[in-house]
Amino acid sequence: RYQDNKYFLQAKDIPALHKRFHAFSHKGDFGKIMLFGGSLGKVGAMVLSSKAALRTGSGLVHVQIADAERMIMQTAVPEVMVAGAQEIKRLEAFDALGIGPGWGTEVDLSFYSSILKRFHKPVVIDADGLNLLAKKPEMLQFVPKGSILTPHVKEFERLVGNVSSHKERLLKAQQFAGEYGVFLILKGAFTSISTPDGKQYFNSTGNQYMATAGSGDVLTGMITAFLGQGYNPLQAALCGVFHHGLAGELAGKQKRRGVIASDIIACIPQTFLELD
Ligand code: AMP
Ligand code: MG
Repeated sequence: RYQDNKYFLQAKDIPALHKRFHAFSHKGDFGKIMLFGGSLGKVGAMVLSSKAALRTGSGLVHVQIADAERMIMQTAVPEVMVAGAQEIKRLEAFDALGIGPGWGTEVDLSFYSSILKRFHKPVVIDADGLNLLAKKPEMLQFVPKGSILTPHVKEFERLVGNVSSHKERLLKAQQFAGEYGVFLILKGAFTSISTPDGKQYFNSTGNQYMATAGSGDVLTGMITAFLGQGYNPLQAALCGVFHHGLAGELAGKQKRRGVIASDIIACIPQTFLELD
């Protein structure tokens, strides 16, 4: 079903991508991840991302958040380890990083650059992590190769300029992925995943009920969780997008227009039951 390097992602493609873990697995096998984000009034983004990562099977989730928000974070999600702002010393101990949900745009850019320069594995960048890159495009050169960027249309246009048609947007996504050696996930109905080697995958799951605050933060946590579990970036991007959409469908069956991002998180475990 490849046509011009375009591929429609379906349920039957997913189980083969899943990693199997055994009875003697320990939490280290399921990955140790770090999420950067959250700021005054946007702690919720980190609450959603970290919960989504845990529900996607992460063994250990660390969150780095503004000092004033640590208490809220720790209270909202007792399973995470919370570090204060710019406390990070041993980044290489982490299997994957997720950067950006609720981070704000006042982040110290030299701190952000140092994260990107010091971490030599793919990272996930979303939301304000992308907005900061749009503000300072020179920083794009520091994004580790094979990283996954997850803009919605507005965030994408901040990165590449205004685009007049859907077709042009897809072309720009493909070019961007090639130019920077990243996986570019353009979110929306039929989310597309553009790869560094010019392929484009189109997702078949999801619904309009997912157009709700925090829905994208859930995706960031899920993709980071897959990366942390040793999925390669393509596998993490495909599984993240597909499971996220399926969780949204399951939530939508019960709640329709009343779906909130937390409902999507609650449905993540069921997506594995449906697919395996
Ligand atoms: P964000 O705008 O960052 O919160 O991300 C929104 C999330 O919801 C993305 O994963 C989108 O793919 C998904 N989403 C939003 N609207 C729709 C829609 N109409 N159909 C399917 N998925 C959607
Ligand atoms: Mg978002």
